[in-house]
Amino acid sequence: MTLILNTESLTKTFGGLSAVSTVDFNVQKGEIMAVIGPNGAGKSTFFNLISGFLPPSGGRIVFSEEEITGLPAHAVALKGIARTFQTTHLFPNSLVIDNLIIGNRLRTRMNFMDSIFKTSRARREERESLDNAREILDFVGLGEAASRPVDSISQEAKKRLAIGLALATRPRLLLLDEPAAGINFNETESLMHLINKIRDSGITVCLIEHKMKMVMNLADRITVLNYGMKIAEGTPGEIQSDLRVIEAYLGGNEVA
Ligand code: ADP
Ligand code: MG
Repeated sequence: MTLILNTESLTKTFGGLSAVSTVDFNVQKGEIMAVIGPNGAGKSTFFNLISGFLPPSGGRIVFSEEEITGLPAHAVALKGIARTFQTTHLFPNSLVIDNLIIGNRLRTRMNFMDSIFKTSRARREERESLDNAREILDFVGLGEAASRPVDSISQEAKKRLAIGLALATRPRLLLLDEPAAGINFNETESLMHLINKIRDSGITVCLIEHKMKMVMNLADRITVLNYGMKIAEGTPGEIQSDLRVIEAYLGGNEVA
């Protein structure tokens, strides 16, 4: 097993509140690691720290043997970490494929002069961007929906498009913040299929999720946060029988 990500004593305080407190965490290359915990446990903040959207108050983050602590989000993205957000940010009036191309263009080298004079580099990059977008749409199962406006596709399709946007940056590690929030059980199945497919394509996956059936079926390992602290880590079987975890979930109803 090869370590792809680890945090040492990672901490984030907001005023007097420790949203993330001295968390040691590691992800092995090729695994699906889930992060669970009650609302307000610090899960999204933890992802914001790893992806560079928030600077940590303390501790270290190492990705692929390189320290990335304190790097801004765009620099972390260039290193190979992509993420989705708890709420999906899409352009609702634009076409599905345009959403992907716009997202992708933000990371290409095309500059203003290139785009005005349609240099050969600009034309090549446009073509590559379109090819990349089509490939990603096919991968996430939205090939047929490419020319539809985003607000005409289902909530579950929007979730897959948001994952596609993250994949368009060709990450080695993908962080998914509640990918199944707001969709029904049948739709969860196809999302689980997609997440497995992403892992099978060689991308390591880290996901925050409340739907316990999904977490228990998908994850190789689970880390549990409670009040910003890591209270347990282990396989789905170990986590389901962990007393601290059951207690954190008020009797274990949510873990069953
Ligand atoms: P989770 O994703 O596990 O539900 P969050 O990471 O969103 O939890 O939040 C953890 C705690 O940090 C909560 O108490 C939340 O109110 C607080 N928090 C999160 N982001 C901020 C922020 N930008 N400023 C102040 N407090 C925040
Ligand atoms: Mg959250």
